[in-house]
Amino acid sequence: THFGFETVPEAEKAKRVYKVFENVAQKYDIMNDAMSLGIHRLWKDALLHAMHPLPGARLLDVAGGTGDIAFRFMAYIRSQQERQKHRAARPMQTSPWQDISSSYSTEDEGGPQESRAVVCDINKEMLKVGKQKADSMGISPGLLWVVGDAEELPFDDAQFDIYTIAFGIRNVTHIEQALQEAQRVLKPGGRFMCLEFSKVTNPLLARLYDAYSFQMIPVLGEVIAGDWKSYQYLVESIRKFPDQEEFKHMIEDAGFCCVRYSSFTGGVVALHSGFKL
Ligand code: SAM
Repeated sequence: THFGFETVPEAEKAKRVYKVFENVAQKYDIMNDAMSLGIHRLWKDALLHAMHPLPGARLLDVAGGTGDIAFRFMAYIRSQQERQKHRAARPMQTSPWQDISSSYSTEDEGGPQESRAVVCDINKEMLKVGKQKADSMGISPGLLWVVGDAEELPFDDAQFDIYTIAFGIRNVTHIEQALQEAQRVLKPGGRFMCLEFSKVTNPLLARLYDAYSFQMIPVLGEVIAGDWKSYQYLVESIRKFPDQEEFKHMIEDAGFCCVRYSSFTGGVVALHSGFKL
């Protein structure tokens, strides 16, 4: 077909996805910057801003790949802790809120305030790149890298305060199953957050975006990663993914409550979130 992977049967999809990310792992970060003109960084920052995690929170980042979300999570927590320290050093200016946030803790062996992020991905090549990055940045403590399938997570029930999946869920074969798993591993009150390509609503922007993605992305894939097909798959998987409203209903059907979304960059990307009751 025109888009290459359109006729791939369901059973083949997981294999294809695995190959795509195995092939691009080493070049993944460069490609992200090149293809999104760096804007993926802003979308990820917006996710963290909306999450506003407090020290002590435990994050599971599914389809976490090379660790972008987990790194931002750790940095965000660190900046919160710095702020708390700063406030504690100025006792005259403490607010009642400080007592609440500083008593927020988990029973981790790391003690109170110890935040943890688990990066889970089906592809060990992607995780390997992420882990190397974490080591070289000196931010490995508190991070855990786990090979696992979003459809069958290797974690016990009710373990995490926040579940994130960024640009990952469209690669999963059975989305409903992945949403069920998110429900299962979250603690009651825990939050589900998903960043994913979505539907551009402005017709002019939609035309530009179509032209850009169908014509430019496979070319960039070929030039930078020597891999036209993987990037053709990427474009195709974006087109097939449900739009904002449809995906919202899927999240609600999985049992999450207070589901809402915001669109970024005219709908190129949407952030959906919901809570487990
Ligand atoms: N979250 C990272 C980011 O935003 O940069 C990586 C996103 S990357 C586009 C998609 C990731 O989903 C890949 O690392 C791929 O291996 C992973 N993936 C695909 N299918 C998966 C599955 N069933 N379970 C877990 N991870 C999966």
